[in-house]
Amino acid sequence: MRTLTLPGGEAVPALGQGTWGWAQDPARRSEEIAALRCGIDLGMTLIDTAEMYADGGAEELIGEAVAGRRDGLFIVDKVLPSNASRAGTVDACRRSLRRLNTDRIDLYLLHWRSRTPVAETVEAFEQLVEAGEIRYWGVSNFDRSDMAELVAAPGGSEVATDQVLYNLTRRGPEYDLLPWCREHNVLVMAYSPIEQGRLLGHEGVTEVANRHDATPAQIALAWVLRSDGVCAIPRAGRPEHVRQNVAALDVRLTEEDLAELDANFPPPRGPQPLEML
Ligand code: NAP
Repeated sequence: MRTLTLPGGEAVPALGQGTWGWAQDPARRSEEIAALRCGIDLGMTLIDTAEMYADGGAEELIGEAVAGRRDGLFIVDKVLPSNASRAGTVDACRRSLRRLNTDRIDLYLLHWRSRTPVAETVEAFEQLVEAGEIRYWGVSNFDRSDMAELVAAPGGSEVATDQVLYNLTRRGPEYDLLPWCREHNVLVMAYSPIEQGRLLGHEGVTEVANRHDATPAQIALAWVLRSDGVCAIPRAGRPEHVRQNVAALDVRLTEEDLAELDANFPPPRGPQPLEML
């Protein structure tokens, strides 16, 4: 598995597994668990979840899927903005730990900006790090100006990650957020890298895929992963999709591919507000 480095020096997989929308349909549960375990076996040991997903149900599904094999995993979880006060963050984290059936979250993110001053949430994150309940903390859906405000707040420069919507159809972050994160050594985690499946039928993506004997999903992932300092967390609920996604790490896009994709999905020419799903 290709890896990227957190600000503290720890390596994390360039490709992880998302879990939004899981644990909602009992008929799909066993395949979701099988997909997650298949991904872990293939090196996708970074697992992304949130207390919001299925109201904690996705965390419980992960807890079940990884029982007995917690070591070696890197679990990313998120606190809801409505819980992001100092005491609320700590309580939410402990509820998540119980659902995950683990004693630590590897990376704990603020899901999106909260009305609570960000410095207060950072204080809670620091308390959780000190207690060993989380190992690193970060944010999600923070635009460049939010990041600048965060690093200026007490303790804010310890931020490890910004998890944002970034894919071929959502290229806004390339203009300013990605360069800012690179400069400040903040890992970018690209969510919805396949645009929730909407990129699969795109003609321009299919053409490039055909040249590589690859699938559109693999091209969408290879494109996100071409950027320095960016990892991706696709959600794949079927083992065959998981296997395809891991193989996307071997797809090398050529100059011709990239030019063609630029023509179909133009890069930003100026600052654009960060989009979110
Ligand atoms: P996504 O990963 O872009 O797309 C998921 C869809 O793509 C699913 O329908 C999946 O179908 C399909 N898919 C995956 N691999 C495939 C393949 N090889 N071939 C064909 N289809 C494939 O969308 P997402 O779930 O929105 O984003 C990924 C993760 O990012 C989420 O699960 C969540 O963990 C995180 N996220 C975070 C935020 C945030 O605010 N921080 C927001 C959105 C998402 P199957 O299930 O049938 O495989």
